[in-house]
Amino acid sequence: MLLPNHSRVLLGSSIAFLSLGTLVGYTPQARAIDITIDYTYDNKGFFTDINRQALLNRAASYFENNINDSLPALKPAPGETFTIEFMNPSDTTGANISLSDRTIAQDEILIFVGSDELGVNGSGNPILGLGEKSASSRTFFSNSDFDNAYTTRKAEASLWGGSISFDIDSGANSTDWYFGSDAGSIGTTQADFLSTAIHEIAHVMGFGTSENWDNLVLGENFTGNTSSTIFGSDVPLEPAPDLGHWLDGTESNVKGVLDPQETAMDPSIADGERKLLTDLDYAGLQDIGWEVDSSVYSSSVPFEFSPSLGIFFVAGMFGTRKIWSTCKSKK
Ligand SMILES: [Zn+2]
Repeated sequence: MLLPNHSRVLLGSSIAFLSLGTLVGYTPQARAIDITIDYTYDNKGFFTDINRQALLNRAASYFENNINDSLPALKPAPGETFTIEFMNPSDTTGANISLSDRTIAQDEILIFVGSDELGVNGSGNPILGLGEKSASSRTFFSNSDFDNAYTTRKAEASLWGGSISFDIDSGANSTDWYFGSDAGSIGTTQADFLSTAIHEIAHVMGFGTSENWDNLVLGENFTGNTSSTIFGSDVPLEPAPDLGHWLDGTESNVKGVLDPQETAMDPSIADGERKLLTDLDYAGLQDIGWEVDSSVYSSSVPFEFSPSLGIFFVAGMFGTRKIWSTCKSKK
């Protein structure tokens, strides 16, 4: 009996708030996710330079500013336990890290970051980053606040967040990173850190790494409604066993940009290139359950892409294309 009554009170207050907002001429800020970056396991000092932290925060802001979900806190009561488990971002081939003393705040998505030597993929292309949506375990009382919050969070494409490792920045097999914000200054042999960070955060959010994603994969295509509408058909994915990225070379519109751009969530980036989230990337996030703000989409007619030899030819022109992420997903 208490709950419905409580809901009515809340509804009443938010209507009052909206009216007040209209009267004084501003729109109340919608609730949104809040990405926390945790540097505890940055054992190799990749983020000692606060300029790099600022760029990572900028990458996170593309999600924080445009995803309107409200997420309950994950706080076990006495007698309940909550253990988060994630890839060590500075030792990606070592044991996972487990923490039992970390609670997750309301609206928080927690991401541990670090760097490691990530090597090359099966095609010999250097890997720039690894982004994981990570696991957890718990004991709980049925219908407790923690149980209810966990169930609500579990329906999202990412329960609490995850872990990202970026390729090391020094030594024989390191990446020549660009840590600037100005896209026009990326060196012709450099890999753009901001683009890579955006890509990996999307994986932590469940893009290509969650059950919500898998449920929309049919054969080697993604069948989400918003994505298919924007693309003009089901969207071809990188062939199995990947199935977690748009097919390499897939393009889509970006708000405020005239020509279609290569998507952020295909598996590769060229030296000297910057890639931000396109309509199709946001649509993928929306299809796996996030409340993506409609203002992110460009208003122009969706670009219709069909895979062709032409695209592969263009891709082949970049002899040094670097491959992002092998997506070691934990489900
Ligand atoms: Zn990836």
